[in-house]
Amino acid sequence: MKNSVVDAIGNTPLIRLRRASEETGCEIFGKAEFMNPGQSVKDRAGLFIIRDAEKRGLLRPGGVIVEGTAGNTGIGLTLVAKALGYRTVIVIPETQSQEKKDALRLLGAELIEVPAVPYKNPNNYVKVSGRLAEQLARTEPNGAIWANQFDNVANRNGHVNTTAAEIFDQTDGKVDGFVSAVGTGGTLAGVAEGLRSRTSGVKIALADPMGAALYSYYTSGELKSEGSSITEGIGQGRITANLDGFTPDFSYQIPDEEALPIIFDLVQEEGLCLGGSTGINIAGAIRLARELGPGHRIVTVLCDHGTRYQSKLFNPAFLRDKSLPTPVWLEQTPQIDV
Ligand code: PMP
Repeated sequence: MKNSVVDAIGNTPLIRLRRASEETGCEIFGKAEFMNPGQSVKDRAGLFIIRDAEKRGLLRPGGVIVEGTAGNTGIGLTLVAKALGYRTVIVIPETQSQEKKDALRLLGAELIEVPAVPYKNPNNYVKVSGRLAEQLARTEPNGAIWANQFDNVANRNGHVNTTAAEIFDQTDGKVDGFVSAVGTGGTLAGVAEGLRSRTSGVKIALADPMGAALYSYYTSGELKSEGSSITEGIGQGRITANLDGFTPDFSYQIPDEEALPIIFDLVQEEGLCLGGSTGINIAGAIRLARELGPGHRIVTVLCDHGTRYQSKLFNPAFLRDKSLPTPVWLEQTPQIDV
């Protein structure tokens, strides 16, 4: 029994990914973060950040939590905030999926959509959310805080203490590799720190989508990017505070053409309906499996639920428009209008 939805966050199962395991001769497991109440790994960050702010005495009952997010962190923050008696104001780039925006409004977030512009632009969603938090801290009767998921290390520390600890326990400490993409870096750097401190020899790999700069950074020291990706919630262009001090053992750059067929096959062949960032993660896990050779156990993250992307990733018209591969069965599936 759980006391509230807050206690239903985390302790997600590890699910064996059959095809990825069979293809590589490794055991590849996905941490089923889509089974969190908000259907993504970011419920954890929402909870860690709110609990940390409470501990520091920064949040008062009825206080406002402001955040810039691709959506999932906003959903996590909002459901935790509702359960604990706070409000959320969420700033989201307008390019993010309609399903995530609808979920945020349904949960009761006050949603502000802004044009998608790079981080260095003062109108970038993260910067807008920071300024708004400062302003609301002065005007709101119960105060306001900025969650600041990218540079607030409560995010990474939570993964050290929960996600990594769970993976260690669930595998009886037998884990040879962990792979993840990066949005804030909380998941990758936190799980890496937690697993490295508990086991020796575990290999940590970054799976970076096209358009992100971390693959280039960790392989050549330069923050450079090329190409683009339809995945959401990942693809970082700078070293966030959550990534500070972290180094992967291996780095992979994964094109959408490699990641998306994995997502489509998982729906049809394994009953797993997941978002695009999970495709990048599993493609990365397959590359790490090939690097380490058969017989190893590799864990990655099943970041969020695929229904969140029905209008994009699972929409043949959208995929055709982006010249991305479209599976035949998807063409035959009834589509929602967008
Ligand atoms: N996948 C999805 C769908 C996400 O929303 C996020 C977070 N923005 C991530 C992966 C990456 O997680 P993190 O922020 O911990 O790097």
